[in-house]
Amino acid sequence: MTQQQMLDLIQKLNDYSYAYHVKDEPIVPDAEYDRLYLQLQTIESSQPDWIQPDSPTQRVGEKPDNGFANVAHTVPMLSLDNAFDNESLADFDQRIRKLLNAEKLVYCCEPKLDGLAISLRYEEGRLVRGVTRGDGLSGEDITSNIKTLYSVPLKLRTETPPAVVEVRGEIYMPKDGFEKLNKLAAEKGDKVFVNPRNAAAGSLRQLDPKITASRPLVMCAYSIGYVEGWEQPESHYDGLLQLSEWGFRINDLMQRVEGSEGCIEYYEMLNEKRTDLTYDIDGIVYKVDKIALQNQLGFIARAPRWAIARKFPAQEEMTRVLGIDFQVGRTGAITPVARLEPVFVGGVTVSNATLHNKDEIARLGVQVNDYVIIHRAGDVIPKVVQVVVEKRPENTFEVDFPNTCPICHSDVEQVEGEAVIRCTGGLVCGAQLKESLKHFVSRKAMDIDGLGDKLIEQLVDQKMVKDPVDIFTLHEKREALLKMERMGQKSLEKLLSSIESAKATQFNRFIYALGIREVGEATARALTSYFNELEDLMAAEQETLVEVDDVGPIVAQHVKMFFAQEANRETINGLLKAGVTWEKKQQASLEELPLAGKVYVVTGSLSQFSRDQVKDKLLALGAKVSGSVSAKTDCLVAGEKAGSKLTKAQSLNVPIIDEAGVIALLHEHGAL
Ligand code: NAD
Repeated sequence: MTQQQMLDLIQKLNDYSYAYHVKDEPIVPDAEYDRLYLQLQTIESSQPDWIQPDSPTQRVGEKPDNGFANVAHTVPMLSLDNAFDNESLADFDQRIRKLLNAEKLVYCCEPKLDGLAISLRYEEGRLVRGVTRGDGLSGEDITSNIKTLYSVPLKLRTETPPAVVEVRGEIYMPKDGFEKLNKLAAEKGDKVFVNPRNAAAGSLRQLDPKITASRPLVMCAYSIGYVEGWEQPESHYDGLLQLSEWGFRINDLMQRVEGSEGCIEYYEMLNEKRTDLTYDIDGIVYKVDKIALQNQLGFIARAPRWAIARKFPAQEEMTRVLGIDFQVGRTGAITPVARLEPVFVGGVTVSNATLHNKDEIARLGVQVNDYVIIHRAGDVIPKVVQVVVEKRPENTFEVDFPNTCPICHSDVEQVEGEAVIRCTGGLVCGAQLKESLKHFVSRKAMDIDGLGDKLIEQLVDQKMVKDPVDIFTLHEKREALLKMERMGQKSLEKLLSSIESAKATQFNRFIYALGIREVGEATARALTSYFNELEDLMAAEQETLVEVDDVGPIVAQHVKMFFAQEANRETINGLLKAGVTWEKKQQASLEELPLAGKVYVVTGSLSQFSRDQVKDKLLALGAKVSGSVSAKTDCLVAGEKAGSKLTKAQSLNVPIIDEAGVIALLHEHGAL
């Protein structure tokens, strides 16, 4: 690298850092920033004379530029050195052991929360100021905003507080709060945040504290930055416990370990847990636990020598859109999918990412050949979160949403108020047919082993299966089947026998298998425990359907429409004729049950049992449990804070019992 190239690299990193730290609108993913940063570090270590004072390796963060007062930190708020693998972590451990002449060190391990660093100053136990990290030497005074956070104590919970203490921690936005905030913003056409970290930063640096107050922010303390008139505990870990006693939230996954082996074990444990956590973390911070040793080690330019951040593999990466394809799903929904230059993100190589719908393409402004940021966490499907507009090449072009189905060329329709565009072809559409069949045979539906996706695709392409009924006539097509890819005599026999045994199914599985829109496994179960007979369900009116637990007006409409269609009725008849059957609930014994024929509704909050537990017990005694009160309701079980259902029951003179009443009833019939 020439010196000029290095200067260009510094300029680029500084631009990225400004967008990230000051504007809260990163231009590139962190992984890209970190790669370039590492390049700069490498060149600087081989050419120390070239090091520039404005190099990002020489400083922390950025000077803020908005309307808050600037406050100098009593003790600088530094950054952290990074380790991207076990070797650099072991190097770190070896380096500081050498400096301290120590055999083994105890480290405090903490999740590296992905938010914004904050310093809170308490005088005589009262919060007097909250300041952002800023450029490390001074930050913005955001006290009014900080005070809106319930997790920030305004007064320490002690009678004997230190004269002065500065508590440091991270303010972050939990994942569910972030999703909700973005959903609302998208609905209103407001700015959507790229990730929870930027949402937290943007929410905190609002000039109007009311906006901050409305955002789901949490503060978690991670160190004592400065203290006067109080003796600090000897270890960092004990310091955190003290902060907890004073009323701060501390992270419950922090742990003390020995040596670099202990650090690596902790890494593996937390990496597994990462996606299940309710907040984003981008790594682990390892800190030498003994405060005396920390003091001995001191600091280098921008980071303490006694701590290191071990980064997790990135969940956001940059790649290029090679094309935009349109896929047709089981219910005809046409989903645009970005075909990507393969990229390693969230632990796997990703080459496709959903673009959801037409509105999302417009919101992102994504074009073919664009560079985009892909997010993938855990098993969640990869998502395009942002176009890297800065890097837009000249040859990009927009893609028109198709006017007809890309598979069967039927018309498409968009229901008013819905973002989804659908093919109207039904099972005439090869794509819908394939997806419906895959659903029909799946484990929780008809559970037909050996009828995998590839085979279904061949069967549909060769027109051997045109609807689910044809699956049960496959035994008549042995010869053709034997010609299929990877189909031997043995696998054929296995397939035919599992088709045969799948005929004896359960009512709820059958209903789920039909693939009625918005009728998942739980709804199918609710429908079939309400209606004992298929004919009753098929003939049910919407107002009866909404009586079923879990069924609202939209689902009721889908159910009604499904059974109203002649083609679906024919399929159902065909399936029954082919021998699909299930064991009927024993009417006789049902009738013998003590609450047979009685309709119960359970509402309000109960203290000894959950509502679901009570419902299950009532069902077991033969009662029907409905979700809404009507003239047909025999009894309302009303717990604390029961609302509209109670009022309705009173107006309809429906008998009402409270929690004690239902417990007595269950006792009486031996259900408790
Ligand atoms: P850092 O975020 O890697 O580490 C320091 C910070 O870690 C502290 O300030 C604190 O806020 C946080 N932290 C979380 N939990 C902690 C704990 N338990 N103990 C101590 N600290 C804890 O360093 P940095 O200097 O703030 O910034 C570098 C990061 O910012 C990198 O991840 C980089 O990718 C990203 N960045 C991205 C861009 C971009 O354009 N995408 C630009 C600049 C920086």
